[in-house]
Amino acid sequence: MPQIGDSLPMLRFHQTPSVLCLKSVGIICEGKKIRFGEFEFASSLYFSYSRSFKPKSLDDMSNPLFDLETLKAELAGQNPRAILKAALEYFHNLAVSFSGAEDVVLVDMASRLKPGISVFCLDTGRLHPETYRFIEKVRERYDINLEVLNPAYQELESLVKEKGLFSFHGDGHTECCGIRKVGPLRRRLATLDAWITGQRRDQNPTRLELDEVGLDSAFSTPENVLYKFNPLAKWTSAQVWDYIEAYDVPYNELHRKGFVSIGCEPCTRPILPNQHERSGRWWWEDAAKKECGLHAGNLHKGK
Ligand code: SF4
Repeated sequence: MPQIGDSLPMLRFHQTPSVLCLKSVGIICEGKKIRFGEFEFASSLYFSYSRSFKPKSLDDMSNPLFDLETLKAELAGQNPRAILKAALEYFHNLAVSFSGAEDVVLVDMASRLKPGISVFCLDTGRLHPETYRFIEKVRERYDINLEVLNPAYQELESLVKEKGLFSFHGDGHTECCGIRKVGPLRRRLATLDAWITGQRRDQNPTRLELDEVGLDSAFSTPENVLYKFNPLAKWTSAQVWDYIEAYDVPYNELHRKGFVSIGCEPCTRPILPNQHERSGRWWWEDAAKKECGLHAGNLHKGK
């Protein structure tokens, strides 16, 4: 075990992606003294460095520890498990986002690769009872560290006091989603280096150009560069359901009642066969705006 005062070039590692990170750190930090606590193991060292990395501006968020374009090319078209493994190799401080719907397949895969992995979901206060029961079932079934995130009560109370409980029917979903979803998400993401989502290209026209990995332009800040992995990007809904059946993965009982894409109770409805799955969400709004702010970066792509 290295001691206080040792410098990075004394460390020698072989093989695997985390080694590449260490070599990079070694070059960058050559001759610099490092605290004892940062040596515990490879990924924590990488984590320590990546947390301390500060971009010059939001236009220059390149990470010196790996080349994002190379990683994108390597992961393009890979299977979800391979993408998850890469995310876990490169990032120690990351979490899986779970929506309470069929993205449970990610929880299944990730908990096999890393028991005890951090998973979070957003409790907007407006979910279906079935979704709450499902979230609890997932917590009981898997070896995960599940966090249920809540909105800031002051903001929520102000909104409801001023506009009532169904303001989204009058002036769109952005404000309500901003308080009930985006706010809690932003607070959690500010503490992470990367997150893993269940987004797929076939879910929505706004997701057609979804990459397997990228910088999260919506939630990165000068203080915290955030990466986003989308292991299910190339999967279809049929592949997701094949996995659920093959591995006996629990699923939200709303799926048996005609719901495909599941969100909050007032803003989600069942759809007919052959209707696009996002047509059951915010059906009173333009299809090109059907992102709740969690993946706002999708709305800017290709424009
Ligand atoms: S989906 Fe509907 S109820 Fe849920 S946060 Fe958005 S606007 Fe509010």
